[in-house]
Amino acid sequence: MPYKDPEQAREAARKYRAKWRLEHPEQMQRDNAAFRKSHPGYFAAYRIAHRKERADYNRAWALAHPQQRREIERRCKEKHSAETKRLRCLRYAQNRDQRRRENRERMNRDYALHPEIYKERVRRRKALKLDSGKLPKDHLLTAQEWQKILTLSHGRCYWCRRKMDKPTQDHVIPLHNHGLHVAYNVVASCLPCNCSKGAKIRTLL
Ligand SMILES: [Zn+2]
Repeated sequence: MPYKDPEQAREAARKYRAKWRLEHPEQMQRDNAAFRKSHPGYFAAYRIAHRKERADYNRAWALAHPQQRREIERRCKEKHSAETKRLRCLRYAQNRDQRRRENRERMNRDYALHPEIYKERVRRRKALKLDSGKLPKDHLLTAQEWQKILTLSHGRCYWCRRKMDKPTQDHVIPLHNHGLHVAYNVVASCLPCNCSKGAKIRTLL
């Protein structure tokens, strides 16, 4: 049926094409593939030229679909876990001072909200140290012994041999694995080595 109004005719043609596309998915796929082949770089150029619109659209979509977004993020993290860890460490290193300040602020805030949780954590750690193997108190690591360990370490981490800015006490057999807080179980370690160990037992070999 011919339309008198050209706008109406265009609209009808648009609708017809949309319907045709839905009805011929294979043909569409073939046509698209051919287009991609004959116009190399077309879509990449489009993505670059419309970067802002695309980012805005993606952001709006992510806000409107929180659950799907979380799922996509989770899958992506799983697939690229090594890469995300590397990037996370890099970002942390770049903004280290700021991150540390933020972390400290958050901890202070949380502490103000739930002091009992933090106090309990400190208390447990202390109990583990003191209680380790029910040793008599004079067997526990003393300040002098710790100084001696530091001297013997020559300022280098026991695990990675790098120079330490801030040496930390690292338990070779972790306190959580019934390790003891005694001189022969404590080494001087850099913070990254100490933090990466967690409750695992680690050896030099
Ligand atoms: Zn180290």
